[in-house]
Amino acid sequence: MKRDAQAIWIDEKARRAGFVDGAGLAHALDLKPYRIGQLYRAAAKELLESPAEVTVLPKALRSELQLQGFAFHSVMPVVVQRSSDNQTTKSLFRLADGAEIEAVLMEHYGGRNTVCISSQAGCAFACAFCSTGQAGFTRQLEATEIFDQARYFARELAARGKRITNVVFMGMGEPFHNYGSVMEAVALLNDPNGFGLGHRHITISTVGIVPEIDRFADEHIQVNLAISLHAPNDEIRSGMMPVNRRWKLGELMAACERYVAKTNRKIFFEYVMLRDVNDRDEHARELARLMAGHLYHVNLIPYNATPDGPFAGAADDEIWRFAGIVEGAGVPVTVRQNMGRDIAAACGQLRVETQPKVKTA
Ligand code: SAH
Repeated sequence: MKRDAQAIWIDEKARRAGFVDGAGLAHALDLKPYRIGQLYRAAAKELLESPAEVTVLPKALRSELQLQGFAFHSVMPVVVQRSSDNQTTKSLFRLADGAEIEAVLMEHYGGRNTVCISSQAGCAFACAFCSTGQAGFTRQLEATEIFDQARYFARELAARGKRITNVVFMGMGEPFHNYGSVMEAVALLNDPNGFGLGHRHITISTVGIVPEIDRFADEHIQVNLAISLHAPNDEIRSGMMPVNRRWKLGELMAACERYVAKTNRKIFFEYVMLRDVNDRDEHARELARLMAGHLYHVNLIPYNATPDGPFAGAADDEIWRFAGIVEGAGVPVTVRQNMGRDIAAACGQLRVETQPKVKTA
């Protein structure tokens, strides 16, 4: 049976404080069930910093929780950077075991505040153009480690009278390679008794793990699905995304068709524009043929060049020309607004700057 959001939260937080699970904590501290509810709401809904701030709890209990090392947060900001226009804030977080992950807050004009969060420390998929992929896999994140990235920015925004309107799983890692914890994090984000973010305001982006796309279709939730396509044919895609050697474009597109047939939900296809790799007119026409006639939307992404990488981004006018061809073929297309370039806000870039260049085993 699936645990509800509160049970997921209390079990993980209790384990981090050295108890077996939530029940173990409740037993050791003689906590009544409604006390657990108060703790959970204080963290997930009221966004308080620590148990010490939860004034509905008896003082003795607050001190005891503090003494046991029961914390609301599991991600510690070690570097925080703000872009010169103040619209983008990027945090490098350290986890309890020293692993590092990144998350980015984008405050758009018009009131949309999107947080981009990580689902893993590192990534196992090795996409050639992605700095996270090049650095390799460190470990899976737990559901609360994923959730706490959003909670961190929600607290930051609340201090300025604002709130998170959207969460995207487009930080480090492959969400469908950490499927269970990502779905639990979605439950934590969505819980109407807790954080309360609607499913439609959450987007999961995947490199294209076919069996997990089918599994996701069966969840029957309104969470948005984005596919990192980045190429209109197998030759180009396999050249830069090793995952394409496992599941070819034909298999990926068949899974996408099954998803739409089952859910009647639109799929977003991300396509990062790499100069002389996938940005030619013929690629645009090939992409349009792949997309045409389906409930698909193409999002062209200007490339954030990585310091040592072999790729360069397509120029802006090239991107718009490409978009024009795709649109002319009747396929809905948008060009992603580029934010935070001055603070290296693309996936994995901040960690690259703070870590030694040589990979340690
Ligand atoms: N593993 C997930 C999430 C990755 S990050 C996935 O593959 O979808 C989210 C998006 O950023 C992906 O489409 C990824 O390919 C893209 N991306 C990675 N590095 C980038 C860069 N340097 N510039 C622009 N987009 C990048």
